[in-house]
Formats: sequence, structure tokens, C-alpha cells
Amino acid sequence: MSSTHAARGIDTSRPHSARMYDYYLGGKDHFDIDKQAAETVAAAYPGIFVCARENRAFMHRATRVLAREHGIRQWLDIGTGIPTEPNLHQVAQNVVPEARVVYADNDPLVLKYAERLMRSTPEGRTTYIEADVNNPEALLDAPELAEVLDLNRPVALSMNALMHFVTDAQDPYGIVGRLLDALPSGSALALSHCTPDFDPATWQKVTDIYTAAGTPVRFRSQKDVARFFDGLDVLDPGITVGHRWRPDAPNGDQPAEALTDATVSLWTGVGIKP
Ligand code: SAH
Repeated sequence: MSSTHAARGIDTSRPHSARMYDYYLGGKDHFDIDKQAAETVAAAYPGIFVCARENRAFMHRATRVLAREHGIRQWLDIGTGIPTEPNLHQVAQNVVPEARVVYADNDPLVLKYAERLMRSTPEGRTTYIEADVNNPEALLDAPELAEVLDLNRPVALSMNALMHFVTDAQDPYGIVGRLLDALPSGSALALSHCTPDFDPATWQKVTDIYTAAGTPVRFRSQKDVARFFDGLDVLDPGITVGHRWRPDAPNGDQPAEALTDATVSLWTGVGIKP
């Protein structure tokens, strides 16, 4: 089994962020080494499961708002992760069946499951590209992207729980800026990002665990996350903790969960390119 993974370029000798995240979400697509690292994170920060769930919920709501209220019909989702239902195209195509979605991730394990991301409506279209966000030009120039997205029409750039894997030395603001430069007016940025703001000591431990596992991370403050939206019209309610970004109306029979900002520890926002 491991030789098959090795042949596919899947490194099972160290934990991977995509597979740890799959564990946080209750998925099955990870190895023991990922589970162990994820449990070390959970011991330091028990909120990680809530954070991961609220992160998905933000993606669902942001996608629906962009489709319903801002006319978005195309998405470029970078750092897609191991497929988790509903995936972005399912949320978008539920509102607009003709929605087109390009997914991109640099983890070979995500590629292995990418077929699950291809179950598009007949009216819409999806594809998957193995790509590194650190090379936005290669991603934008990928022939598969051009087959699905028309870059002359608005595109929502979706970057959820991704940019904290891009350190300051890797030019995170330049990367997002170059991606947005390639998109026309009316395009959008939907972004979520873990933060140490509410509990710095805990997030230092999380930083140390990821770094020791071979994955450098840079969790950022609200001010630093807001910088990703420079030059965009940020939608209400601004750069907000995930569960506070346009929560769905309570459905009556379920009491609203009392989540704290420290538990969620995730800044989220959506901006529109003027
Ligand atoms: N966006 C999904 C998954 C977040 S987990 C969600 O919010 O639910 C973070 C994902 O980013 C992982 O799948 C990981 O493989 C991917 N990732 C990390 N660094 C990356 C990089 N440099 N380029 C592309 N993807 C990256």
C-alpha cells in the first residue's frame, strides 16, 4: 500500500496539512501519522474541530452569497483539500446549476480523490489542477483552467484555510494580489485564515506543532488578514470571526450554539474587486 502511495508521490512518512484537516472534519482519508499530529494539535487547541467545521460553513455561506447577490458564476478554489461534502461546486450549483469551478491543491493525495470533485451538473463544469499557490502564474496559465473559466468575466477566488501555510518570506500579499490582478472588475475574494488574536499562547503551540511536523505556518492577526483585501470593497460585516460572518437564520428547533471567538479563532471575509 505504501509503495503505491510512494509511486503516486504521496509522502506517508510525515503528517500533511490536508490529511490532518480531513481528520479534524471527521473524514477517513488520512493516515495514522496524520491522526497523531492532529491529536497533538487538538490536545493544545481543542477548538480545532469547531474551527474546521466553521471554516467549511463559512465557505458554504460565502459561496451562496456570491452566487445569489453578486452574480458570480465562476470560482477558482485554491487549497481545496480532500473532498468533503458538500464541496464548493455542489453549494454553488445548487444555487446556479451552470456554475463553473476550478479546484487547485498541491497535495498529491487531493489529486487522488479529485474525481469526487468532477461530478458537476450537466449545465456547469468543474476541473482539478495540481498546483502550488506560490506560483500563481503557472496556475492561471494552466490549459485546464482556460477550458473551464473565462477570465474576462468575474471569478470568485476562494482561499479558505490556505494562506496561513504561506509564510511572510513567501510573499503572501503579492500572491493574492497577482491572482486578483488577473481577474476583471466584479470578481471576488473569499478568504478564511486562522488567527492567534484571541489566544496567543495556544496558537504558539499550534504553530510549533505544525513547524515540527515539517509544515511552516503563519497564523495572522485581523489587521494582517485585512491586508489581503486591500483595494477590494469588503462586504458586511467586514473581516469577522467565522461564525459571525452572515450566520444563517436560526431554524427554530435548534438552539444557536454558543461559540466563542477563541474557540473558532478564524478570520473570514469576502471582498469585491471594484
Ligand atoms: N480550502 C479547504 C481545505 C483547507 S486545508 C477548506 O477550507 O475546507 C488547506 C489545504 O491547502 C490543504 O489541502 C493543503 O494541501 C493546501 N495547501 C497548502 N499549501 C498549499 C500550496 N502552497 N499550494 C496549494 N495548496 C496548498
